[in-house]
Amino acid sequence: MIEFFQKLRKTRLVGYSLFVTIVYAIVILTLLYTHFPINDKIDLAKVVIHWVLLSASSYMIISVLAFNKYINSILLPVFFILSAFGSYFSYQFDMIFNEALLESVFETNIHESLDLVSFELIVYLLVIISLSIWLVRIRFSNSSSGLNFGYFFLLLSSFFIFNSVNAKRNNTLFQKVPFSYYHAYQNLLENEEELSVVRKDISQGAVSNSDSLIVIIVIGEAQRSDHVGANGYYRNTMPLVEKRGSIFFPNIYSEWTHTNKSLPLILTRADSTDYSISYKEKSFISIFDNCGFSTSWLGNQIPGSTYKPFIEENKYIYINRPELSVYSNTKKLDTDLLPIIEKRIEGLSSKKLIVVHQIGSHWWYNSHYPDTLSFYKPTLVGKNFTDKYIKEYINSYDNTIRYTDIFVDNIISKIQNKNSVLIYLSDHGESMGENGKWLHANEVDEERNPACFVWLSDEYKSQFPEKFEKLKVNRLKRFRTDFLFHSALDVSDISSEYLVEKLSLFW
Ligand SMILES: [Zn+2]
Repeated sequence: MIEFFQKLRKTRLVGYSLFVTIVYAIVILTLLYTHFPINDKIDLAKVVIHWVLLSASSYMIISVLAFNKYINSILLPVFFILSAFGSYFSYQFDMIFNEALLESVFETNIHESLDLVSFELIVYLLVIISLSIWLVRIRFSNSSSGLNFGYFFLLLSSFFIFNSVNAKRNNTLFQKVPFSYYHAYQNLLENEEELSVVRKDISQGAVSNSDSLIVIIVIGEAQRSDHVGANGYYRNTMPLVEKRGSIFFPNIYSEWTHTNKSLPLILTRADSTDYSISYKEKSFISIFDNCGFSTSWLGNQIPGSTYKPFIEENKYIYINRPELSVYSNTKKLDTDLLPIIEKRIEGLSSKKLIVVHQIGSHWWYNSHYPDTLSFYKPTLVGKNFTDKYIKEYINSYDNTIRYTDIFVDNIISKIQNKNSVLIYLSDHGESMGENGKWLHANEVDEERNPACFVWLSDEYKSQFPEKFEKLKVNRLKRFRTDFLFHSALDVSDISSEYLVEKLSLFW
C-alpha cells in the first residue's frame, strides 16, 4: 500500500489524474445511482456502464485541474465539494440539479437552505474535504508531473465519450453531477432568453359573455388514446370519468411527440401549417385574463423553456416539487396538486381558468401512482426496454392511466355543482415497443394519437345545450391538437377575432 502511494507521488500527470478520477467516481458519483431500480443483471450492467461513462467524462475536468498544482490546490477541493452536494441530494431526495432548482436557490433565503443541511451531510462533506486535501498534497509532492502522450490521449477520449454519449442519449451525462450545474445554468439562460422575447398580445377586442364559469384544462402526459376503455381498449382504464358522462374523442392527431414541441402548439394559435406563431404570439391564457378570468397554472412538471412564457401569462403559478426530474425514481403524484386546485376553485373570482399540467403517464411509470393502487399486476421492477417485460411495461403504464382517472374524477367532484367545464388533452402518445420503439419523441404513429375527453356540468349543459349537442356530433371527427386554443375560447363563450369556429369541438 505504502509502495503504491510512493509510486503515485512519482507518477506522471496522467497517473495522478486517473487516480483522482477513480476516487471521485467511487466516493461521489456512486451516490447518484442509489435510486435506480435493479431487477436483473441487465439493469445492473446499465448502471455500471453509465457510471463508467460518467467517470470517464469527469476525467477531462480533473486532468485539466491537475495540470497546474496551484490551480489544482484551490479548484480540486471546490470541485469535490460542489459535486458532493449534488450527489448527496440526489442520494437523499432523488433530486437533480436543474434550472428550476437553480432558480429557487437564487430565490430561497439562507434560513430555508439551512433546513436541508443534516448531520449526515456535514460528515460526508468533511470526509470529502479531507480526501480532496490529501489529493492536493499528493499533487504537490509529485516529483515528475510531466505531460505525456497518455495524458492528452485520455483527455481527448474523455471529451469524445462525453459528447457522443450526450448526443446519442438525450444529454444523459449532462444531467448528472458534475455537469448538471453547467447544464442547469445553460437552461436557465435559455429560459430567460425565451421570456425576453416580446410576444404579440392577441387579447385585444376579445369579449367574454358569461358572468360565472370555471374552465379547467388538464394537459395530460404521454397518454395514448387507444389505452382508454371508452375508445375500445380491452381494459376499462378510465371508469370514473366515463361514469361522469365525459365525451371521449378518439381521433385526435398530435403533430409533435414530445412535450416541449407539443405544448406551444396546443396553447397558442399555432397549427400544422404555421408553427412559428408559437414563438411570436401569446396563448389563449392572456385572452382569458383580458376577459376577466382569474388564471392559474398548476404544474407537476418542470416548465420547459418553450412553454414557460405561456405559464408566465397566468396570474397564479404553482409548480409541484421542481427538484424531481420527470424521470425521477421517487414518487411524484398528480394528486399532490389537488389541495391547490381546490383553493383555486374556491377563489373569489366568479370566472376562472385553471390549467393543470400533469406528470400523468410519463416514464418511470411506477413513480406516478401509489403502489397501493396497482390495479394491473405484475408491474415493472427494472427499467429494461425489452419485449421480455412488455406485460409489466403495459401494466405499469395502464396503472398511470387509472391514476389519472382518479385524479381527474377528483377535480370534477369539486366543480360538479357549478357552471363548469373540463377539457382533458394529453400532449402526445407513447410507444409500447412497436417497431422497437419505447417511450416517446420517436415521431411514430403510436405517439401521435393522444387521449382526449370533455366533461360538462349539468348547469353548463342547461345553459349551453347546443354546445353539448355539437360536442356529441363531433365526437368521432378527426381533430389536430390545435383544436384546444379555439375550443377553450368557444366553450367559454368568448368572442375573439382569432377564434376559428370550425376548429372547435363545440361548433
Ligand atoms: Zn409529453
